[in-house]
Amino acid sequence: MTKIVGIDFDNTIANYSSSFYQIGRELDWIPKNIEPTKNAVKHFLQDHVNPEKWTELQGIVYGKHIALAHPYDGVKQAITLLLEKGVTLYIVSHKTLYPVIGEKVSLHDAALNWLINREIVGEGSKQIAKDKVFFNLTQQEKVERISQLGCDYFIDDLPAIFQRSDFPSATKKILFDPLSQSKNELFFDDRLTAWSEIEQVVNASS
Ligand SMILES: [Mg+2]
Repeated sequence: MTKIVGIDFDNTIANYSSSFYQIGRELDWIPKNIEPTKNAVKHFLQDHVNPEKWTELQGIVYGKHIALAHPYDGVKQAITLLLEKGVTLYIVSHKTLYPVIGEKVSLHDAALNWLINREIVGEGSKQIAKDKVFFNLTQQEKVERISQLGCDYFIDDLPAIFQRSDFPSATKKILFDPLSQSKNELFFDDRLTAWSEIEQVVNASS
């Protein structure tokens, strides 16, 4: 039977880890000597500037400057491999239409254009078709979409999505956890620490 795999977008396909530091520095919102990671930038802005600054930076990173994001290592190969095996792939993301604070740039258009520019989405046989990409305004809508699409697996970096009571019970929860940070294994079925492991994960839990 054809398997159906749903994939989250932000921080699962798109890697923003260096964007936060780079843009934070360009705007002169953060000092040079902090660690160049998302978490370090987040904590600096939240603790030493104000939480709104962190929210505003996220809007810029996910919108106007999305081009600085790059696909996670191996994600394109993993997508090609799954498509070659006849797996149906969907991208299901939760995103507001515009940043909560800051310039009104459509975050949905920015993300879709990024996927097209990076040749992850397109009309080729090794690409995900545009009509299989869904941006949802709320987490609830996202979970409803996963359920409606009948995903056998869903891959997401956010444990909170799996902890929702409305998350479909028939869908295997695959936590994308490249830094192996999550300790609470109760909330997911399997962990993907690198995209190169996709075959083990999708096969092992079938
Ligand atoms: Mg995510």
